[in-house]
Amino acid sequence: MKKLFFDMDGVLVDFQSGIDKLSDEVKKEYEGRLDEVPGIFSLMDPMPGAIEAVHTLSEYYDMYILSTAPWKNTTAYSDKLAWLTKHFGDLFKKRVIITHCKNLCDGDYLVDDRAKNGASEFPGEWVQFGTERYPDWEEVTRYLISETLLHDDDDEKLNKRLVNYAMVEKTIKMLDAYTDVLNAKVGEKDTKEILAAAKLTNKWLKVLGEEDESAYYID
Ligand SMILES: [Mg+2]
Repeated sequence: MKKLFFDMDGVLVDFQSGIDKLSDEVKKEYEGRLDEVPGIFSLMDPMPGAIEAVHTLSEYYDMYILSTAPWKNTTAYSDKLAWLTKHFGDLFKKRVIITHCKNLCDGDYLVDDRAKNGASEFPGEWVQFGTERYPDWEEVTRYLISETLLHDDDDEKLNKRLVNYAMVEKTIKMLDAYTDVLNAKVGEKDTKEILAAAKLTNKWLKVLGEEDESAYYID
């Protein structure tokens, strides 16, 4: 399984929802440095769709939290752990990395809303949450699942996954997402990835009974 890292604030956690729960006095006292309010992280709600998306992705990825705590807010570390336990139970137990140097972590994908604290230099692929390409969890989940089809060449596993997809309404949506990925790879002229993607797309189309050999025929 590939390694997938999640940022917290602005990705899993709705930062603004915590600010909205502060009194006017506290907001005034910490103006310009609201992330230093003691206990603020424990007040925050999850981002829309985040909990469901993480549970879905847990079937496909080896997952970790990769977050930063404000240097001057010493309760942020424990608040973040409490928040994760409250919303995910033991899903991230002993899988939490708090750092200002995200670029030093070795992984395949990082879902993060900002370039700061090493995110833009992450050695794998940075999936920037909240952008036009990845506006919400629905889109991020669709992309990351479509990426898993490039990960292994095990026909048995792949067929099982394809049949599972064929049983659900989302199949066609997933196929569209996957062909988008394929077209993007063609644009990048990454031959190895193109061949792998074309092979898998043909199989997928076949399972759906919509095989179109002219589209991505490679054999
Ligand atoms: Mg963030």
